Amino acid sequence: MMYHEDDYLPIAALQHLSFCERQWGLIYLENVWADNILTADGKNLHEHADEEMTESRVDVVIARGLRLSSPKMGLSGIADVVEFHEVPEEESHDGAITLDGLSGKWRPYPVEYKRGKPKLDHCDLVQVCAQALCLEEMTGADIPEGAIYYGKPKKRTIVRFDDKLRSETTHLAERLHRLTKIGRTPLAKYEKKCRSCSIYDYCLPKATYSSEKARRYISSALKEPHYREDK
Ligand code: SF4
Repeated sequence: MMYHEDDYLPIAALQHLSFCERQWGLIYLENVWADNILTADGKNLHEHADEEMTESRVDVVIARGLRLSSPKMGLSGIADVVEFHEVPEEESHDGAITLDGLSGKWRPYPVEYKRGKPKLDHCDLVQVCAQALCLEEMTGADIPEGAIYYGKPKKRTIVRFDDKLRSETTHLAERLHRLTKIGRTPLAKYEKKCRSCSIYDYCLPKATYSSEKARRYISSALKEPHYREDK
């Protein structure tokens, strides 16, 4: 299936969805502090990109603000940095591409900039993988790896786009479309990760969860025969 561009959803939504479906719903369906979170991320991202990009290499061409899209996944977004690495003569040029005005063969290499530390979960990985999948679809290149630059420590983490990560990313994109179609923010479920959630104060997972339990209890009680008889 191919998506129409009117139905594309933001690549950035994948990281929130991967972290917590409710977090995604609050940000993307209910606009809870979306501006603040996304703006803060963007500001940081540019600062880190500028910081790291002072170093230049002859065999790397840097494209900033590249617009990415994937009709297959129905996603679009802007990659802050895509590096194009020149493939050495002696290496296989399979899946490498040419660039206008430059000789040689090149391989795209997405780099995602994040404030904070590397995370143990896959949220950041799926986002950079989605960028790679878009680039593959757009250019016909094979992209085996990319990187995430974390502000703490100021260091790159290499991300290999193996089959498992690719499949996780495409499934998440499908889930994103399904939940967007449903258009309802998933319910809160208090978990350990809530403690590091950027919108904890807006979600109030413990309170939301107990009020939802109470609501369910009341509605199931109202379905009991004695309530119906009273009507
Ligand atoms: S506080 Fe917990 S349940 Fe609420 S959005 Fe954050 S991670 Fe999800």
